[in-house]
Amino acid sequence: SCIPNGRAKGHQIVVCVRKRPLRRKELTDREVDVVTIPSKDTLVVHEPRKHVNLVKFLENHSFRFDYVFNEDCSNATVYEFTARPLIKHIFEGGMATCFAYGQTGSGKTHTMGGRFPGSQQSSMDGIYGMAAKDVFSTLKTAPYSRLKLKVTCSFFEIYGTRVYDLLMPGKPQLRVLEDGKQQVQVVGLTQNAVKNTADVLNLLEMGNSVRTSGQTSANSKSSRSHAVFQIVLRSEANQRIHGKFSLIDLAGNERGADNSSADRVTRLEGSEINKSLLVLKECIRALGRQSSHLPFRGSKLTQVLRDSFIGGKKVKTCMIAMISPGLHSVEHTLNTLRYADRVK
Ligand code: ADP
Ligand code: MG
Repeated sequence: SCIPNGRAKGHQIVVCVRKRPLRRKELTDREVDVVTIPSKDTLVVHEPRKHVNLVKFLENHSFRFDYVFNEDCSNATVYEFTARPLIKHIFEGGMATCFAYGQTGSGKTHTMGGRFPGSQQSSMDGIYGMAAKDVFSTLKTAPYSRLKLKVTCSFFEIYGTRVYDLLMPGKPQLRVLEDGKQQVQVVGLTQNAVKNTADVLNLLEMGNSVRTSGQTSANSKSSRSHAVFQIVLRSEANQRIHGKFSLIDLAGNERGADNSSADRVTRLEGSEINKSLLVLKECIRALGRQSSHLPFRGSKLTQVLRDSFIGGKKVKTCMIAMISPGLHSVEHTLNTLRYADRVK
């Protein structure tokens, strides 16, 4: 079973970890699970090491987070403790973000619901779909039904420093502009009006197929880009933004450390991803410290999310760090956990 504790209820920044189960292929390959979860908020990585005299031992690295989701947790449980509490926040006029962070193959896309076309999983089973469902049910519920809000969705991808609209055929590149009042705008970004959950699922379907077109596996280009899905509440009267929920499937973090690649483009790409993830961490930390200095210009990702970092108490964020349990991933797992540990 999986019932995380409620330590983080109402926090402005929530950081949690999700451990996925070993995959069938890993089981047949006799991959070893090196991650244990001894209590509801504690996780231990058992890293095999060797002394200088070659005696083997396990070095145990212990981490605590707001929530730790073990391999038995469903997407619904993860949703319940991460994105779900943020729905009310956007209806009250707030800005919310939820990030899926981790190495490629750790379960980011599985959790968010940005599934590959043709896969068995339905978009409804991910956080995107569940959030959409709750947005529409809350919209009809008092006192929020009185606000006369409408809902629009956007879905775009950040690849290096370029931004692409996933809701437009051909995936056009969009420009990002900052006006004199420091408002950041993605010029021409599709903002589709949606009336119900089915509308949102259709958009997700389209965006996901545009995102992954021409690719054969999860281990391809999409893991080198950030995908940003936004649900925006607007006033029916003047179209003004009332609240916004950004759900982000981040690029795989494993390339950050990769300076060894012979291919210059791959190296550049890796350093750009690395930079954006570092700046993201700094922005969330600044938020937690009520600091007015946000280094959001340091990456395209944080620049386009600027309005979700400014605004003090009107801003809430949640990071779900995904980890693979296997011995072969232990270094990436430790990197992911150290990053998540420093976000707060
Ligand atoms: P990422 O987006 O981080 O690269 P994926 O979401 O594509 O990783 O997950 C990699 C593989 O592991 C997929 O086949 C996915 O279905 C599977 N997977 C990930 N998380 C889970 C989970 N919690 N339960 C079952 N399978 C999972
Ligand atoms: Mg993915």
